[in-house]
Order: sequence, then C-alpha cells, then structure tokens
Amino acid sequence: MRVIAIDGPAGAGKSTVARQVSTATGLRYLDTGAMYRCVALAVQQTSTDVHDADAVGQIARDVAVVIERDAAKLNGVDVTTEIRSSEINGLVSIIAAHTPVRDAMREQQRRWIRDHNGGVVEGRDIGTVVFPDAILKVFLTASPEVRAERRVGQTGGEIQAVSASIAERDHLDSTRIDSPLKPSDDSVIVDSSDRTIEEVVAEIVAYFERVDRG
Ligand code: C5P
Repeated sequence: MRVIAIDGPAGAGKSTVARQVSTATGLRYLDTGAMYRCVALAVQQTSTDVHDADAVGQIARDVAVVIERDAAKLNGVDVTTEIRSSEINGLVSIIAAHTPVRDAMREQQRRWIRDHNGGVVEGRDIGTVVFPDAILKVFLTASPEVRAERRVGQTGGEIQAVSASIAERDHLDSTRIDSPLKPSDDSVIVDSSDRTIEEVVAEIVAYFERVDRG
C-alpha cells in the first residue's frame, strides 16, 4: 500500500502539509486526529467518565465516525466545527491514551487505507504503529513558540492559554504507554519552524517520488 505517514506534535503544520501532499501525489488524505476528536465528542455528549477505559472503548467501537477531506461526521451529524473546541482539546488526549480506543481507531484506519488504496495519513502513531510499512514516514515538528503562534493564527485565542494547551497535549501524547508520540527510527525528521509550507511540501513530495519509483 502506498502510505505516506505524517506524524508530529500539535501545531507543527501536519494538516496543511498533508492536504497539499495529498493534492500533489493524488493519494487521499486521512486526518486520524479528527477520529479521536469524534470519540472525545461522543464521550462528552454522553457524560461518560473520560478515565473509564472500557466505557470509552465501547463508545469508540459503537459510534459511526466518517472523516472526509473537509468534514467530520459523528453518527451521521456534521461535527466539523465542534470537534475543534477547547473542551475537546482538553479531553482528546485523555481518551486517546486508552488502549481499547486505540485498538478501535487503528482497525478503522487500516480499513480506510485498504478501501482507498493507500493515502496520506496524519497523526501521532501512524509510522510507528498503524502503518509500520509505510513507504514514506515523516516526523513533522516545529519549535513550541512557532507551533503556538500558528495555532493562534488558525483558531484564535490567547497565546499563553494556547501554548499551555498544546504543551499539555504533547505531554500526554508522548508519555502514554500505548503508542506514544515519537519519531520512528526510519522517519525523515522535518522541522518546519523557519520554512514555508511550500518548501516543506516540496521536500516531502520529492522524497515520495524517490521512494515511489523504487
Ligand atoms: O491531530 P490532532 O491535534 O487533531 O489530534 C488530536 C489528538 O488526538 C492528539 O493530541 C492525540 O491525543 C490524539 N491522536 C492520537 N493518535 C493519532 C492522532 C491523534 O493519539 N494518530
């Protein structure tokens, strides 16, 4: 399967870069963070205890999550905006640390790739765990200051609060037991701090063309 895995911390530019890499390569784009966000929203809507791994895992298996290029649907309802709220930012890394949730999400992500014949997949554990055989693995990062500034530019908010929220999420994501955020040994590490999106996309597409030719 032709999978380009793009992992990295919050605010590194993964979504923007992954979308453009998808356009340039013709591979479909999958935002796996949106899947975890939909589960977090379902947990919130049902007032489930976020720390109850089994109960949250059951929700992850039961809900119908559909992620399209520009929209996310939970049980048939468009939740594209709701899943980006600060409340969901606060919940998502807690529920994403539960193994039953991760098992359910991984299964759906692998099915999606089979159904779409490959793709550009963005997340935290795509190159390390979900698609260890991806033909290209990118770990996209940027300095904490740049990441916070970019997030404020995209979603608004106050720089200190956004910075703290990103730092908290990165901490939870990189210290969890099940598939923590980290670069895989065979990933290309791309620091986007001082570079334009166009430069980063061009670099990744060039890597892809090289490996895709074999
Ligand atoms: O990419 P995004 O910031 O939308 O991801 C939201 C959260 O979902 C992450 O902070 C992380 O807790 C979780 N996530 C994950 N594994 C992935 C993608 C996202 O644990 N592959």
